[in-house]
Amino acid sequence: MIIGSVENHRSREGGAMVYPVYSRRSKGLSVGINLFPDRKVCTFDCPYCEVFPFQTDISFSVDTMAETLRGVLAEARDRSETVRDICFSGNGEPTVSPFFPAALEAAAQIRSELVPQAALVLITNGTGLLKDETFELLRCAAAGSEALNIWLKLDAGTEGWYAQMDCSAVPYDRLIAAIKAFARTAPFTLQTMICAINGAPPPPPEAAAWERLALELAASGRIAAFQIYGKARPSPGDPTASSLPAPVLEERAVSLRAALNAAGLYRPDGKPIPVEVFL
Ligand code: SF4
Repeated sequence: MIIGSVENHRSREGGAMVYPVYSRRSKGLSVGINLFPDRKVCTFDCPYCEVFPFQTDISFSVDTMAETLRGVLAEARDRSETVRDICFSGNGEPTVSPFFPAALEAAAQIRSELVPQAALVLITNGTGLLKDETFELLRCAAAGSEALNIWLKLDAGTEGWYAQMDCSAVPYDRLIAAIKAFARTAPFTLQTMICAINGAPPPPPEAAAWERLALELAASGRIAAFQIYGKARPSPGDPTASSLPAPVLEERAVSLRAALNAAGLYRPDGKPIPVEVFL
């Protein structure tokens, strides 16, 4: 079940509910949980999305997920491999699934039993925050015994770039308002994809607006880290997105680090808020 020393996301499109990968952002072995083994379900339609078009007749079940997760973690233990995290990601937006609350509870329990050192991570595009019950669920999970690490996507500082990058029916203003409200109540890591659309990089006003928004969120005192990442794999559903040279991403990170420093914005322990780049 463990997949060599490479990243491999194809198994999830084959219907896998639990898929071990070596993740650049987790810096080691990450065990993914996919709530959508039958087809992609998402509130965004990002042109850079790496989820391949697919369809299976596999239905998600919390019991099957939990049993498979136990098996994958046992196998990692037998190989003396350290599991860095258990990560809700997969073929879409996890918070859309009606199984998400029960799956989160089951994964947290199994993590505590078998790999207490591993983080529990949710990768989300943030649109679930527009629903009160999901907002509250995530707030409690981040602060409570689950200690859920939330990696929240924020690809754009302007409505125009949001329209190009995320192609969502969710209004930009409402999404940003929900993310700002969440930043006042719970910790999270902010993730931003930087790539070209139809060959064009984000326009300069977009970069400035994104940085202003990042600073505003950091002022809440709850941002754990910023992750800027580039397009590393193909997105066969839409060829309009392409990667940008590393210096473009590095420039964004250098500018944000300087702005955070100038604004005196640090983590609660007084250390700088990490601004990492993943190419
Ligand atoms: S939010 Fe994630 S899963 Fe959804 S379309 Fe964008 S990249 Fe794909």
